[in-house]
This record gives sequence, structure tokens and C-alpha cells, in this order.
Amino acid sequence: MTTRVWDYLPEYEQERADLLAAVETVFESGQLILGKSVQGFEAEYAAYHGVGHCVGVDNGTNAVKLGLQALGIGPGDEVITVSNTAAPTVVAIAGTGATPVFVDVREDDYLMDTGQVADAVTPRTKALLPVHLYGQCVDMAPLRRLADERGLAVLEDCAQAHGARQNGRTAGTTGNAAAFSFYPTKVLGAYGDGGAVITDDPGIDRNLRQLRYYGMEKVYYVVRSPGHNARLDEVQAEILRHKLRRLDSYIAGRRRVANRYEEGLADLTGPGGLTLPSVTEGNEHVYYVYVVRHPRRDEIIERLKQYDISLNISYPWPVHTMSGFADLGYGEGSLPVTERLAGEIFSLPMYPSLSRDRQDRVIDALHEVLAEV
Ligand SMILES: *Cc1c(COP(=O)(O)O)cnc(C)c1O
Repeated sequence: MTTRVWDYLPEYEQERADLLAAVETVFESGQLILGKSVQGFEAEYAAYHGVGHCVGVDNGTNAVKLGLQALGIGPGDEVITVSNTAAPTVVAIAGTGATPVFVDVREDDYLMDTGQVADAVTPRTKALLPVHLYGQCVDMAPLRRLADERGLAVLEDCAQAHGARQNGRTAGTTGNAAAFSFYPTKVLGAYGDGGAVITDDPGIDRNLRQLRYYGMEKVYYVVRSPGHNARLDEVQAEILRHKLRRLDSYIAGRRRVANRYEEGLADLTGPGGLTLPSVTEGNEHVYYVYVVRHPRRDEIIERLKQYDISLNISYPWPVHTMSGFADLGYGEGSLPVTERLAGEIFSLPMYPSLSRDRQDRVIDALHEVLAEV
């Protein structure tokens, strides 16, 4: 029996009736594009965050890209982010014509080292793009302060942090806008592609609605600035409405799995051993992925294969070392923490419906393998 690092089929089995009813609701509605389901989801997702606006888009990459464009970012501008992220964060920046600028991450939580950001600001810097990677928030207070002092915008990449909180604030409510992905594996996942941008600023909301709809304010109206076709699909929106009602229980399920790992793996930690995720003070982690670290990662993964457990690495190649971003000029050694992590981290199976049995087998297998390496 294979244990996958992520699996939606147990959830589908449990929620099948509601999911299929959601599809039927759309098919019977008489409006298949930007209808009641997208409108409903947008209102409910904005309310979940206590913000004024939410604009549904077709995926998380476009949520970041259109989010930046709605903030006025384009060719000639610089956007400060991290290289320890999913490549789409950086693909989206490049897609606006702006230049990505990287700072390193911290040794403890693997998130943006906010202390390095001020030195990376140049006269061309227009925005800061913190990524709430793995399910917990970047320290937002110093970024918000710096942005306000220097007149910069802040776009939060919340693709891995739906419902995460920091000092009581929900992820995505400190920046000028925040981008979400509903890719199926995410904490709030659709049954296909989807994304959204939230904001409290009516001007940004207006820009986003035009950007996702060819650049038009309404049907067949004048295009003043060419946009995209980047709409959230009605079927995915209705499925997301159903799943949003359960988001807090999905998060609780992920925390249950994380707590069990923490108990079951505690004896394997220590110098030269396994490092478990560290939750930074003030943060409430939602465990999009459960990332552990070990200096002999590759050997461990190789040996775990015989146990039929699939693991993942988020991410094996830092974005600045990818050939497609060689032009940016970040040589090897330029982001030492990010580069070291990429060789040592791996992710254990994590999803809310992961059974205790399967999880215990992962814990047991790690004990056997770590005794050998
Ligand atoms: C998943 C993800 C994205 C991209 O989302 P898609 O819906 O796959 O386009 C962007 N940023 C981060 C951090 C992600 O994890």
C-alpha cells in the first residue's frame, strides 16, 4: 500500500455528495462564466479574511502576476522576494516585466530574512513580495514599516498559507493585496485550477477585475489597457464555497497530523539528526507541507523507497539557480542558507485525511532508516 505525500481521494470519498451537488448547482444555474458561484465565493472569501474585496482568478501564478500589475508594477521595476519558494512566485514577477530581487531566508523557519530587505531596496524597487512558505507567515511588521517609509507596495504570496495567522491577524491582511492559489494540493484546494487576490483597496479591486477580463470594465466595453483572460471558473468557485466552509476543520486535521509527527519523531531530533519544523513565536502554522531537514537527506529518501512511502522536496532547486533565471546574475553561493536547505530538506506525507495507520508507518519507517544512515 503506497502512502502518497498528498492524496485527495480519501477526501473525495467523504465529501462526494456535496462536491457533486456543487457541480450540478453550476450546470443548472444558466450562467457558466462569472456567475453566482464566483460572486458568492468572492464575497465569502473576503468575509473569511475580514477584507473588502476578493477577485477570483484562474490560478495562483496569475493571482501573483495580476496582483502585481494591479499595484502598478511593470517593466523597469524591481520586486524583492525569496528564492526559497515555488518557481511560480518568480515566474509571475518576471511575467509583469519587472525584475525579481532575492534576499536569503532564515535558518529557523526557512522564511524571508526581513533584516536583509532594506539593503536590497534601490530607487527602482516598487514592491515587497513575502512568501508565507510551508504554511506560516513571514514576520510582517518590519516589512510593513519599511514599505510605508519607502513608499513601496506589499503583495503577500499566500498560496501555501490559507487561514494561517500571525499575532491574531489572518495571512493576507497586512499587505496592500494578497495572492492565493487553489491548486488541488493547497490547504484550500479546488478540483482543478483556481486562484484569488484579496485587498481592502477599491482601486486595486477595480484594476484586478479589468485585468482578469481582457482589460474591460464590463462586457464588450472599451479596452484602455490590454489585460488577460484569467477568470476563476464557476464550477471550481462552487466547489471552493463548499470547501471554504470546512477550511478550519481541514486546518485542524493538518495540525493533528503535525502534532503526531512531532511526538513520534522527537527522539530522532538533535545535532546531526532530524530537524522538525519550527513555529515562530506569534505564528499559527497551517502545515501546507511538513518539511523536515537532515544532512543525509538523499540517502534517507533512497532507503525509504522500499517502504512504499512517497516523499517530496519543496524545493530541490532554488529558483536563482534555475537556468531560466541565470540572467538575474545570482551565482552559486549568493544565497547560502537557501542553497544549503535545498540539499537537506524533504517533506513527509501531509493531508487532513491522512490515516493514523499510514502516519504511524511513516514514523516507524523513519526510525528504521535513521538507525542505518
Ligand atoms: C502553488 C504556488 C503558486 C502558484 O499557484 P498555481 O495555482 O499553481 O499557479 C505560487 N506561489 C506559491 C508559493 C505556491 O506554492
